[in-house]
Amino acid sequence: GLSGEAYRRRHEISVTGDNVPPPLTLFDSTGFPSEILREVYNAGFSAPTPIQAQSWPIALQGRDIVAIAKTGSGKTLGYLIPGFIHLKRRHNNPQLGPTVLVLSPTRELATQIQDEAIKFGKSSRISCTCLYGGAPKGPQLKEIDRGVDVVVATPGRLNDILEMRRVSLDQVSYLVLDEADRMLDMGFEPQIRKIVKEVPTRRQTLMYTATWPKEVRKIAADLLVNPVQVNIGNVD
Ligand code: ADP
Ligand code: MG
Repeated sequence: GLSGEAYRRRHEISVTGDNVPPPLTLFDSTGFPSEILREVYNAGFSAPTPIQAQSWPIALQGRDIVAIAKTGSGKTLGYLIPGFIHLKRRHNNPQLGPTVLVLSPTRELATQIQDEAIKFGKSSRISCTCLYGGAPKGPQLKEIDRGVDVVVATPGRLNDILEMRRVSLDQVSYLVLDEADRMLDMGFEPQIRKIVKEVPTRRQTLMYTATWPKEVRKIAADLLVNPVQVNIGNVD
C-alpha cells in the first residue's frame, strides 16, 4: 500500500498538529470492532474516504479535530464510528443522558445523521435520537426519557429542551459540531455557546466545516483544545 505521506499527497490531505498519526487507508487496519466492520462491508464500501482515513486515527486517540472538507466526503461516519467506540469504553447509563452529542444545522441533515447512526450502530446496540424544531416536543422528550446514547440535534430545539430542564448533558464527553460554518451562517452561535456551557469541559470535541472563515476559526479556538487540523482538497 501507499505510505501515509504518499496517501496524503494523492488525496490532497494536509494536517497541522503534533505527531499526527498516519491515515488508516484500509478498513482492516482500523482496529474497529467486528460488528462495525461488518456493517461497513454490508454497506458495500470498499475503502475509507480520505477524511475518514485521516480523522479516524486522530479521533481514536481522543484528540480534538477540526476537519475542513466539502460535502459528500463521508464526514458523518468520520465522527460517528469513533463516537461509537468512545461510547463503548464509557459504559454510561443512557437514562442519565447522552454520551455523544452531535449538533447539526437543519432537521433534514440531523435526520440523515440519525439514519446513519442507527444503520451503523444497531449491531453495537447503540441508541440514537434526533431533536429538531418544527415538530412537537412531546415525542422527542419521550425518547430522551427512555434513555439514548447519541443525540443529534439542531441548536434551537436542543436549547429549548435544555431550558425546560428535560435533558442533562452532564454525561456528554464526545461533542461534534457538524457543518459548523452553516450553523453560524444560520445565526445559531448564541445557542451553540449556551449548549456547550452545559457540556463538561473534560470532553473530546470535533468540528466539521466546509469553509474556514474567521467566525469559524474563532469558535474553534474557543471550544476546542489543541485540535489537529485536517484539510481535504485545496480549501484553506
Ligand atoms: P458529508 O457529511 O461529508 O457530506 P456523508 O457522510 O453524508 O458526507 O457521506 C456521503 C455518502 O457517502 C453517504 O451516502 C455515505 O453513506 C457514503 N459513504 C460514507 N463513507 C463511505 C465509504 N467509505 N465508501 C463509500 N461510500 C461512503
Ligand atoms: Mg455531512
